[in-house]
Amino acid sequence: MYVRDVIVAANWKMHTTPADAGALATIIAARTREPGVTVVICPPFVCLAAVRDALAETDSGVAVGAQNIHHELAGAYTGEVAAPMLAGLASWVILGHSERRRDAGETDALIGRKLARALDAGLRPILCVGEQLDERAAGRATQVVDEQLHGALVDTDPASLTSAGLVIAYEPVWAIGTGRTATGADASAMAAAIRVSLTTLGWSSDAANDVPILYGGSVTSVNIGEFLAEPSIDGALVGGASLKPDEMSGMVARAGITAAARGLAG
Ligand code: PEP
Repeated sequence: MYVRDVIVAANWKMHTTPADAGALATIIAARTREPGVTVVICPPFVCLAAVRDALAETDSGVAVGAQNIHHELAGAYTGEVAAPMLAGLASWVILGHSERRRDAGETDALIGRKLARALDAGLRPILCVGEQLDERAAGRATQVVDEQLHGALVDTDPASLTSAGLVIAYEPVWAIGTGRTATGADASAMAAAIRVSLTTLGWSSDAANDVPILYGGSVTSVNIGEFLAEPSIDGALVGGASLKPDEMSGMVARAGITAAARGLAG
């Protein structure tokens, strides 16, 4: 049976500068050495080189990711960054984060085009999906996430997505940066629904089962255990707490327990 990766991805959002990002990455790398856990740091674009260089001085294996890419390869798009520009800087990319859906008006179709650019550039995508609070209250959370998945994935064949190592992050919008979290049971139920959605997109049930699904939304070292206790949840996408070395250390240590239980710790 295929064993899914255990992943802790740090979304630094619009924090850090080229002057301080490398030092923070170095500290985090030193404090997150857990066999079998994949750690990814996603700093702002301007800090990618500093983080890459700092991590290269370690043998930590911590990966570098971007927080976004443009949906075109090149052109008259002032202020944007295309996937091929990240060559040598990042190997992962976050796509469809709710803050970009909210602030940059990203639609599922646009996110689907970004996904295609990520695959062309060899970037491992973390696709974010999640409902608003009113949608959950109305009993529509699963439907909303299903629509997001269909909108973003419909034009890309499952084999390309699985070979690119697609990761899906379930991030209920009302839990991001708010201190509120879903329950482990809610996250697990959504992970199951996500895997069903993938099969309705033509994925085999094995392929759907093998996709790592992360939970995101106010994850900390204190609450990550509730999510990782769910066999269907494979890690976390972390914002605020990912800037704090003590928190990263605690979260990755807990992820290490899951990795060991899955036989990933080697
Ligand atoms: C995120 O940025 O994806 C996120 C989940 O943020 P936070 O952990 O701060 O809620």
